Amino acid sequence: MTNVPEMFGSLVFNDAAMKERLPKDIYKSLQKTIKEGLKLDITLANVVANAMKDWAIEKGATHYTHWFQPMTGITAEKHDSFISPQNDGSILMEFSGKELIQGEPDASSFPSGGLRATFEARGYTAWDPTSYAFIKGNSLCIPTAFCSYGGEVLDKKTPLLRSMELVSKAAVRVLNAIGDKETTRVASTVGPEQEYFLIDKELFNKRKDLIFTGRTLFGAKPPKGQELEDHYFGAIKPRVSAYMEDLNEELWKLGIFAKTEHNEVAPSQHEMAPIFSTTNIATDHNQLTMEIMKKVADRHGLVCLLHEKPFAGVNGSGKHNNWSLGTNTGKNLFDPTKTPSENKQFLLFLAAVIKAVDDHQDLLRVSVASAGNDHRLGANEAPPAIISIFLGSELEEVVKAIVAGTARKDGVASPLITGVDTLPDFMKDTTDRNRTSPFAFTGNKFEFRSLGSSFSIAGPNIVLNTIMADALSEFADKLEAASDVNAESAKLIKETLAAHMRILFNGNNYSEEWVVEAEKRGLLNLKTTVDALPYFVKEKNIKLFTKHKVFSEVEIHSRYELLLEGYCKQINIEALTMIEMARKEIYPASAAYVKALADSATAKSALGLDISEDSDVLLVKKIASLQNNFSKKTAALEDKVLHLFDGEEALGQAEFVRDSVLPAMQELRAAGDEIETLVGKAYWPYPTYGDLLF
Ligand code: ADP
Ligand code: MG
Repeated sequence: MTNVPEMFGSLVFNDAAMKERLPKDIYKSLQKTIKEGLKLDITLANVVANAMKDWAIEKGATHYTHWFQPMTGITAEKHDSFISPQNDGSILMEFSGKELIQGEPDASSFPSGGLRATFEARGYTAWDPTSYAFIKGNSLCIPTAFCSYGGEVLDKKTPLLRSMELVSKAAVRVLNAIGDKETTRVASTVGPEQEYFLIDKELFNKRKDLIFTGRTLFGAKPPKGQELEDHYFGAIKPRVSAYMEDLNEELWKLGIFAKTEHNEVAPSQHEMAPIFSTTNIATDHNQLTMEIMKKVADRHGLVCLLHEKPFAGVNGSGKHNNWSLGTNTGKNLFDPTKTPSENKQFLLFLAAVIKAVDDHQDLLRVSVASAGNDHRLGANEAPPAIISIFLGSELEEVVKAIVAGTARKDGVASPLITGVDTLPDFMKDTTDRNRTSPFAFTGNKFEFRSLGSSFSIAGPNIVLNTIMADALSEFADKLEAASDVNAESAKLIKETLAAHMRILFNGNNYSEEWVVEAEKRGLLNLKTTVDALPYFVKEKNIKLFTKHKVFSEVEIHSRYELLLEGYCKQINIEALTMIEMARKEIYPASAAYVKALADSATAKSALGLDISEDSDVLLVKKIASLQNNFSKKTAALEDKVLHLFDGEEALGQAEFVRDSVLPAMQELRAAGDEIETLVGKAYWPYPTYGDLLF
């Protein structure tokens, strides 16, 4: 039996390790630095680095790396050994404070969206002391932020940290204004639920589409699909259970609170939910989780697919971003079950979220846009492309009453008290959770469900924190200036809710009626990545980000270009892979089958049988005609791909991809899948959906 408490966090230089290994005064100064977000002093860093190195070497580490999150959405690392040669030819294992706090990876190979001219290829990484160092393989990994020497941000971590700081400041201002003088910091917290597919490695290796693109580009529907829904919470197959056990242990060692695991709706699909933590740590942990999921799968002869839509006709994978705000005095700001005076606080924060989401639907949509996620959003499974908020019936009643003023008879304070009386009930009622909503209130947090499974959660949380900070600072301005804070907050709550009722929707988000209704309400319906991304560079959004110093205007434009480029590149790879599979595998396979059928018919004819109505002949004719069509579609796709990068600007290219390349891919796929249903299994060049999923 493994000793979980002992194993938990054993590979992390966490608080316990620091306490044990650092001199008391150093430990205290470091804690102060971390808690107050101060700059790390070099003498302090030297002592910490040395202790960290000794600890890491005891755990078997020989190298260290600054671990960072470039704009590719995955993590990067550059390993250096601790070895330091001495004059007498021996070595010492050294690690200085300078090496701990700052690194200089060669930044030229990471995308910058044109931010870094090539002559200035250097970037630097800086330790984020709020996220613990950890050991992976033989390396001590130091979580860092990544910038260029010009000061431009080159990663996802820096703007995330900025947005956390912002929302903290704005929330504290609001709290202070309404009488909470104790709270000095507010942390945004996240628990990301991670969905994934597990498939057999041998089968995976036989499919170029999975290898090159992470998703199947061809594949006829199997006779058994997910109609039966027998998979959800079903008995987890023994191999998968062994995988999950191993995965949990690996994650626990890294101090990641992997908690629940269950099978999802689709066959071979699973989910892992960690216990929530501060957003930057949750982000680091989710990146690590995705990496380790893949690594552990490999050990078990499996492959972990994190693509949003590996299989057509089968539910895709997402990530539910459970998000909340908590104070350093232990309050959850979305917890409605408080005394009435604190419910005013709850309603202020609720109103701020509602305002933020309504005002910035576009940015939330942008933050979840990708080629992979386009297969989910708007399809009949994941949240739709239209952003709306689900509050649950009870809470929505409270909001309606406030807006209608029906509970206001007894003066200023009473509506809040009256309105809130019903709140404790809805806390108990988790049964009417709306699974179709993209942004749902779930008790004491909001669950943003539109993220794709392969995403870094940094982007969506940068947006969430920034838009929330913006709404809260507007509130704070008013509350701080008010002579009667109670009256002002009641007014603010009522006015804000009244102005943003359109964003609330408790019904079925998948229905056709909602699309019509949402349009009437003036809500955005940005169906694809290409529709969504241009909103990123709208004046309103540039103003928002630059005002709060989360991104500069140049950074926004560079990120926008990178996103468009990424979209085009990804689909280009998919199209090229399809063409290769079509020419080198599918066509030859079906030709071989046609030849076998023709040979069989010839043999029958040689025996004197009448083959005019022969099934071999009929099938030959049918497949031959499908093959002709298939060839044409292959050529058509190739023609589109040739012109993909013709246009000069990225948006035009992306539009061409959406409007011309993707439809050509769909047509080629349909043609290929039809052939698949007719060709004998022994001839088919790769595993089918049936083989992969069951
Ligand atoms: P579901 O029913 O959607 O599966 P769960 O109750 O299992 O939801 O939990 C979803 C996630 O929400 C978990 O990762 C949990 O830790 C997280 N969560 C709970 N409270 C908070 C909070 N205050 N802030 C952020 N995330 C939270
Ligand atoms: Mg969930």
